Amino acid sequence: MTSRLLRSFFTAAALILALRANTSAAPVPLASLEAQAEKFRTVLTPPSYERTPDEIRAAAEAAIRDAEAALDQIAKRDPAQATFDNTLAEVDRIVARVRNTANRIGLLQETHPDKTMRDTASEMSVKISSWAITLDYREDLYRAIKAFADTRPALTGEDKLLFDEILRDYRRAGLELPAAQRAEVERIRKELTQLTTDYSNNVNQARAPLDLTAEELDGVPASFLESPGVKQPDGTYRVMMNITWHWQAVIENAKREDIRRRAYYARHTLAKDVNSTLLARIIARRTELALKLGYPTWADYQTELRMTKNAATALAFEEDLVAGLQKKFTAEVATLRALKAADTGKPDATLEPWDVNFYTEKLKRERYSVDAEQLRAYFPYEPTLAGMFRIYEKIFSLTFTEVAPPQTWAEGVTLFAVSDRTTQEPLGLFYLDMFPREGKYNHFACFTITEGTRRPDGRFEVPIASLVCNFPPPSADKPSLLQHDDVETLFHEFGHVMHLMLGRSKHGRHYAFGVPQDFVEAPSQMLENWVWDKTVLDTFAADYRDPSKKVPAEVIDALKRARTATSGMFYRRQLSFGLLDLTLHTQTVPDEKLDVIALSNSVLARVSVAPPPDTAFAAYFGHLMGYDAAYYGYLWSLSIAQDMASVFEASPDRFLDEKIGRRLRDEVYAAGASRDVTVSVEKFLGRKQSTQPFLKFLGVE
Ligand SMILES: [Zn+2]
Repeated sequence: MTSRLLRSFFTAAALILALRANTSAAPVPLASLEAQAEKFRTVLTPPSYERTPDEIRAAAEAAIRDAEAALDQIAKRDPAQATFDNTLAEVDRIVARVRNTANRIGLLQETHPDKTMRDTASEMSVKISSWAITLDYREDLYRAIKAFADTRPALTGEDKLLFDEILRDYRRAGLELPAAQRAEVERIRKELTQLTTDYSNNVNQARAPLDLTAEELDGVPASFLESPGVKQPDGTYRVMMNITWHWQAVIENAKREDIRRRAYYARHTLAKDVNSTLLARIIARRTELALKLGYPTWADYQTELRMTKNAATALAFEEDLVAGLQKKFTAEVATLRALKAADTGKPDATLEPWDVNFYTEKLKRERYSVDAEQLRAYFPYEPTLAGMFRIYEKIFSLTFTEVAPPQTWAEGVTLFAVSDRTTQEPLGLFYLDMFPREGKYNHFACFTITEGTRRPDGRFEVPIASLVCNFPPPSADKPSLLQHDDVETLFHEFGHVMHLMLGRSKHGRHYAFGVPQDFVEAPSQMLENWVWDKTVLDTFAADYRDPSKKVPAEVIDALKRARTATSGMFYRRQLSFGLLDLTLHTQTVPDEKLDVIALSNSVLARVSVAPPPDTAFAAYFGHLMGYDAAYYGYLWSLSIAQDMASVFEASPDRFLDEKIGRRLRDEVYAAGASRDVTVSVEKFLGRKQSTQPFLKFLGVE
């Protein structure tokens, strides 16, 4: 116990020293690092960023033209001359080059200070994406690849994986089917494109205005009622139940149950008339398509590319959590019901679905209130960023060096090189674009600029990323102070930067974010835990007015209690959405007469608080289009994130443990999608996956 405490103390002290030593250093010239990179046969050259709309257009057009020409070469080649390298690996390289151009243009689209530049970049991004969609359906290319596949080449490891995946894509696109069946598949796909667009348009166009008086809206904050468009000239208020923040203002605050009930009905019957039958048709067509392509259900077709691999695994995962949360969920329902009973003076009051948000908010206010604002003083921008850098450098055995950028897309953007701490090998480059600008992307994200690429001559071109954030700029008398939420987001997004920097797969398709959709967020979600740990926070967070003051342990504990107070209700609701999605998409016969609304409502009723039978949540559930049979993925990755975090927590230096960090770097980041991700996760965990750490995180005892 003592030795662990001592070690943490020394670690913290060492980190603080390192921090002082590093922040004042002037940027080094890129050339000095390029010379170092040369020793490792590594190329460390950032791309030049287009300076005019014409340059953007030319870059996009050249990327498509060059790719087409190169693909034509493969399609035309005499099959006897085909090899893995000049066929499949070459396709992968061609696609990766286009992706790099698309990524760079995508960055300009979201961050360039000039509107014409952003608009042109946006136009060219659409052009490249439309071109990319046609790739899977290029029959001449498919025939060339198939001819090579028919030679049954002896391949292993990453090459074999690439081979299997490319052929699987063609099979999934229907290219292996006889002509008549293939035409049928294409017809269903086209119909689905139309139907799903109609469903989404209906969602977007649905309106549900409620005109209410001040008396009816008792409890709703005045700041909301005074907001533009809400207050009407006649003194009444128009609230739109299709606008989420309007809906939240009413459902969380309106004291009158009859008003909350009206609001709930208005929201949960949006698009009911138009989308109920449309959804039944969509589900039937998807099932039909899955069957034609040789899958038992649409969910099996969709999950084939994910970690779950099949619908049964996804379903079992969700049911496991439903059961794990049962006790907590029941207890929370009882707490909220008791609040309602006390509030209404009716001892036998029942908790209705329109009561959940209202009493959850009441509970949070009355028993779990934490002033998150007071935490800001502990997170001034500069030391927070420097502190985060030191932590990532430590756990992943890296050094970050500020480099003078040869050129950027905007004023104030800085550049850093990432090197291995032991070997000094330069591994990657990342930019920081941290403060808001007119027209700039307004969230926080990691943008890929280029993936790490192994050239045919064996040299490695390092990956390049940009962290794009919108922190409050500093004022004359106060530094930029971050909210605890923002610090959490910073740790999350920088985790994505690390994932990109440390990828080392052979083929572009497998690089870093090539991992399955239900895994890609997990490592970053895991790193969010760092900012909830006092030992970690104490390495950098300190009151900017008096740096001897650290974040009080009570405040962190109170925040954690607030986080888990109603996690049972919240996650059972999330599970009900995931299960609704999977239930609809595991239908085994295409049946347009299926009552999709009744089926959905029965799932919601079993897993969450029962909705009235005449409401139709599923008619307004936009995720069913584009995120179909994928909703479970959010909890799947979060569960793996907590599972992985538990390995750090159990290690000697907990979240600062270098040995575990190194294992994450080697087994998860470096591997990317170059092998089955389940294998990578198990190698990191040292055991099979478990949902227990996630349940513990949610407050289940
Ligand atoms: Zn993320």
